[in-house]
Amino acid sequence: MISVKGLHKSYGSLNILKGIDLEIEKGEVVVVIGPSGSGKSTFLRCLNLLEHPTKGEIKFEGESITDPKHNINATRQKMGMVFQQFNLFPHKTVLDNITLAPIQVKKQSKSEAEAIAMDLLRTVGLEDKKDAYPAMLSGGQKQRIAIARALAMQPHVMLFDEPTSALDPEMVGEVLDVMKKLAKEGMTMVIVTHEMGFAREVGSRILFMDGGVIVEQGTPEQLFGAPQHPRTQDFLSKVL
Ligand code: ADP
Ligand code: MG
Repeated sequence: MISVKGLHKSYGSLNILKGIDLEIEKGEVVVVIGPSGSGKSTFLRCLNLLEHPTKGEIKFEGESITDPKHNINATRQKMGMVFQQFNLFPHKTVLDNITLAPIQVKKQSKSEAEAIAMDLLRTVGLEDKKDAYPAMLSGGQKQRIAIARALAMQPHVMLFDEPTSALDPEMVGEVLDVMKKLAKEGMTMVIVTHEMGFAREVGSRILFMDGGVIVEQGTPEQLFGAPQHPRTQDFLSKVL
């Protein structure tokens, strides 16, 4: 589904990503871990070209999206993204937040978009909040709405950048539960997280990034149970 070859990203003379190669299959749940500043967010943002790679190629469903002729807007619709900050529209209700893009971008009718939105609200357990405004919601609820909003575009892959890092601890579980449900339903996902228990349980593959490269990758059993690289061992000894 996604193929990354020789991906580099620099800001001026600062080299952030230093050659990333990766293939992601449909249905995989790839969890990216690593120390702060290692380039995890930059990598995720390159996948949907929120950041433009300095060098290298990214293919999505067989098409080169780094080709200057490629229409990235069409591809972005197929890649849902959820950030640490929820970025909901504050002056719109939950239902309007979820239906806005499907109506404007996908040209769905209001009734069709609302029917899909209500299904998604059931999935994230918040049907009773359809008329609420974001300010009335807890952080965990806002993040579940942000996930529903991304899903409303019927993406082929979901990218998550530390979706629980801004939440109070008691709200982390409800967001991770929604993500687990998505994983079980076969959604292809790339998730940057510090939630190691979740990574171990839900990840089909774990990538350890440090210094702008993938230092090591493997199944959760391999990576958490028997890390091979000293940098992975050092990182895990601090976070586990
Ligand atoms: P992570 O998500 O792993 O914490 P990031 O991808 O956010 O890491 O950042 C990696 C490095 O790139 C950091 O040193 C950060 O300061 C730098 N960086 C990120 N975005 C920019 C930018 N727009 N301009 C300059 N440096 C940046
Ligand atoms: Mg980050």
